[in-house]
Amino acid sequence: MRPVLKRLFLLALSTDTEAQYRDSEGWQTRCLHCRSRLLFKPDGEPISAGSLEHVVPQAWFGKRAAKAICARVGDDPNDGRNLAIACLTCNHAKGRGPDQRGPGDPDALNVVTRLLDARLLRFRIAADMPSGHWA
Ligand SMILES: [Zn+2]
Repeated sequence: MRPVLKRLFLLALSTDTEAQYRDSEGWQTRCLHCRSRLLFKPDGEPISAGSLEHVVPQAWFGKRAAKAICARVGDDPNDGRNLAIACLTCNHAKGRGPDQRGPGDPDALNVVTRLLDARLLRFRIAADMPSGHWA
C-alpha cells in the first residue's frame, strides 16, 4: 500500500472516537454505514475488509451544488473530518450510487449530508495532530 494512503487511513483511524488501538494488535473500529467490525495493522493497513471512504466524494469538490457541504470539511477532501472507515461493500455501494449521481441530485446530497453528520459525531482531534492533519 502506498505510504500516502496509509497516512490517510491512520488519519481516519486516529480521529475516530470509535477506533481503539492496542500496541500488539493494531486498530479496531466499525464501518461508518453498517457498523461491521474492521481491523487494521498498527501502520493503518487494513487486515479485514476495511476501506478508506471520502465522505464527501473527491469529485464533488469545486462543484457549486456541493459548496456548502465541502465547506463543512474545510474545502479539503483529505481533511480528517472527511475521511472515514467503511467496509468495502458499503464503500462501493456509495461510490456507485450517491457519489456518482452528484451533488445536484437532492437524494444523493441528502445521503452524503447524513453520512457526514454521522462522521462528525465520531470525530476527535488526535492528540499528536492538533491541526487535524499529519505534518
Ligand atoms: Zn459497511
